[in-house]
Parts: sequence; C-alpha cells; structure tokens
Amino acid sequence: MTAYSTISESDLPPINHVLERLSTVEVIQWALSVFPRIAFLTSGQRTGSILAKIIYQMGVKVDLIFADTGVLFPETHDTIEKISSSYQLPLKRYTPALSMTEQTEKYGVLYLNHAGQEQCCHMRKVEPLLELHEDYEALLSPLRRGEGGQRSRVPIMDLDINFNVVRISPLANLSDEEYQQYLHEDDTIINPLHAQGFPTIGCIRCTTPVRDDEPRRAGRWRHLSGVDYCGINPSDFSHKTASIELPQEVVQSLKTSFSDAENRK
Ligand code: SF4
Repeated sequence: MTAYSTISESDLPPINHVLERLSTVEVIQWALSVFPRIAFLTSGQRTGSILAKIIYQMGVKVDLIFADTGVLFPETHDTIEKISSSYQLPLKRYTPALSMTEQTEKYGVLYLNHAGQEQCCHMRKVEPLLELHEDYEALLSPLRRGEGGQRSRVPIMDLDINFNVVRISPLANLSDEEYQQYLHEDDTIINPLHAQGFPTIGCIRCTTPVRDDEPRRAGRWRHLSGVDYCGINPSDFSHKTASIELPQEVVQSLKTSFSDAENRK
C-alpha cells in the first residue's frame, strides 16, 4: 500500500527561492527528476505552444492534458492536435460528464450569470480533471508572469488543491523579449485565433475578440462583469493554507533535491 506525505504552502518559499534561479529548461529538468508521473496541461494558447515546443526540443515525452469542455473553437482543437502530433506529446482529453445540450436541458443556460458561470466552469473544466491525481503527481503549466493580472504573481511551484497535484510553471519568468522570439519562430504552432483579435481564448460561449484599446482579457466573460478567470489554475484563487498529499518517496525526492541544491551553494 502506498504511503503518503503532506506538502503545504509553508514548504514552498524555500523551494521557489531555489527554482527562481533556474532557467526554463532547468526547471523542467528538475521537475522530471523529482516527479515520476508528470504531464503538461494546456488550453491551446500561445504560452502552451511555446512550452510544448521547449519540451519537445529537450527530447522529452510527457502526456499533453487537455480539458475539452465540448464548446471550444475548432481552431483550438486543430492547434492541440497539431501540438500533440508535431511535438510528439501523447494527447489525453478530459471531458465533462454531460454534453452542453444535456447540461442545458438539465440546468438551463448557466453561463449568463455569475453563479451559473461558476457552476458551468466547475462541471466542464474542473470536474473532468478531478481524476488527474490518480495518474500524475505534477503538471507543467504554461503560465507567465508577463501576462499580468493574477498571473503576475504565479510561483514556479504551486499546490493545486483541486486536483491534488503540484503545479510547475517553467515559463513564469520568461521575459517579453524571449516570449516574442519564440512566437516568431517558424515552427511554433500558434492558434490562428490569436491573429483574429483573440489575445486569450476559452469556450466559444464566453470568448469574444478584443479591441486594441481594451485589456487583453476583456473578451473573456465579457457579458459578466468582474469575471477574469475560471479558477482552473491555483494562482486564480487564494489558498494560503493549502496542502496536498503525495507518495512519500516523491516528497522525499523533492526534499533531497533541495538539500542537494542548497549544499552546492
Ligand atoms: S467558459 Fe463559459 S461555457 Fe466554458 S465552461 Fe466556463 S461558463 Fe461554461
């Protein structure tokens, strides 16, 4: 029987202190060495394309996790499939229990008000991913502080209490210059909607194009004031007393990796 140990928020500052000094590639290498069961979560937007390409260039094969809400743009599906095949990342889709038609028949049109949006995002994005912890201890996420908003304070390592996994954001420190450079490389697979007025992309029902004079996330839940994020990323909500349970040997490996790094200083 597997024995488990706890990692809590209070364990993170010294770990992140060390991770902050590493490059994107070094963070990924470290994560692969500590977490035997690790995958890559993306929604098919620009930073996800960049991180997928970096993982591919490192010669690493991890599962590509995709929360398919059933109401995404066809361009997003095409992008995810291209990323999976070109960068050789096996695609694993997580889908809601109900189709949007079945959900609407049962609950009505939820996404038109705040409470309904939360319920809809929970059923279509969060619930399908609740089983992630059965297969993985950690997820690589393409969040970048340069995106601003709540993302501006995303830590490199975070705890995801919804899915009981560690979140690693190797692009957290990617500069605007490096970001632009990756975007303009010919072989970076970019969701074509970004060139059609969509700085960020979610479900068809809740995403519109954005004018040049608007904030970049203005097209997300435009019909609902004050909604900026769906809550699928731990940086999107406050959880300062969070903790998760991981197999004891993984927690031990995590601690050893940092005592080794500290001893090398
Ligand atoms: S973004 Fe809109 S349609 Fe998509 S899951 Fe959330 S509320 Fe539902």
